[in-house]
Amino acid sequence: MTEEWRAGEVIKLDRGYPLVRFDDGTTLRCEHATALVKGEDRRAVIGDRVEVSVPDSHDKGVIESIAPRTREFVRKDPTERALPQVLAANFERVIVAQPLSEVNLRRLERELVLAFETGAQVTVVLTKADLAEDEEATARLVERVQALAGPDTAVLVVSEQDPSSVEAVRALLEPGTTTVLIGRSGVGKSSLINMLVGSAMLEVGSVRETDGKGRHTTVSREIVTVPGAGRIVDMPGVRGLGLWDADNGIEAAFPDIAALAEQCRFRDCQHEKEPGCAVRAAVEAGELSPERLASYLALKQEMAAVKERREQARRMSKESVPPSKRGRKGAAARKRHR
Ligand code: GDP
Ligand code: ZN
Repeated sequence: MTEEWRAGEVIKLDRGYPLVRFDDGTTLRCEHATALVKGEDRRAVIGDRVEVSVPDSHDKGVIESIAPRTREFVRKDPTERALPQVLAANFERVIVAQPLSEVNLRRLERELVLAFETGAQVTVVLTKADLAEDEEATARLVERVQALAGPDTAVLVVSEQDPSSVEAVRALLEPGTTTVLIGRSGVGKSSLINMLVGSAMLEVGSVRETDGKGRHTTVSREIVTVPGAGRIVDMPGVRGLGLWDADNGIEAAFPDIAALAEQCRFRDCQHEKEPGCAVRAAVEAGELSPERLASYLALKQEMAAVKERREQARRMSKESVPPSKRGRKGAAARKRHR
């Protein structure tokens, strides 16, 4: 039996096998080599560069290895207490989408934390601008979001009613780069991509599969090439955005608080009851909103809880595995292959 090895990229994930596009543009559904999923359970995500063996007797390829990632979008696995879940790999920009007239600031903060944590460029796109009362209301909302996103993060406004509004988004998508689009279901992510692509590529307000709890969710993720620009991938159905590794993301999303914290008397000040706390002083002086500090503290608290659970899980797995066996499975899974 002959087999061919080819390099490609995972461009679509749905309920079936990952779809890999090879460098010549052809695509093939591929399963994972047993050695990848055994033990550490390494699975390719959207954007992963992979090596695929194509047995000539099969209509399916086999993902033999996953290249190291330049970047990952990670959240806490919503179904596991102490495991991360990677949603996308190897991208240059994250766009956070929120509906202009129904911006959820708490969710936006969280989305920004996760986006900044990836180290990618971050942009906020406010959708459905046509639903805003008037231009003044729009300007006010943009200003609030801009204050939250910080001066280095562009805040753009788009509307389906105004096709030219997407040109500023298109300009961000540099050829050869990949952008990940996040935002809750129904904010208009598919509509935005369709406007960029100029055709109804993705089903808008589509029929969604139930997720077992009677809720509906779009499950397919696919990298789409925008004509004259880069590539974009919608991440639908991302309801929960639990923090995993987000310490840097929190500091990046709250640079004002991070700067104030440097003036606190104690280096490990929790900004709660400590004397000489510059952060609380700023709140009392009306320079920092108490809601913003509350968000910051809640996210820090969530991070501390996640770390604690991870530590517990680590201790438990150590207790159940004899010292001589520790880490072997993972090492073996990593080594297998050529
Ligand atoms: P997704 O779940 O984020 O992909 O959201 P969709 O793109 O499927 O859009 C959800 C709903 O919002 C659909 O009914 C769209 O027609 C509607 N929608 C999307 N963009 C706009 C917009 O700019 N203006 C208005 N008024 N409705 C929009
Ligand atoms: Zn303090």
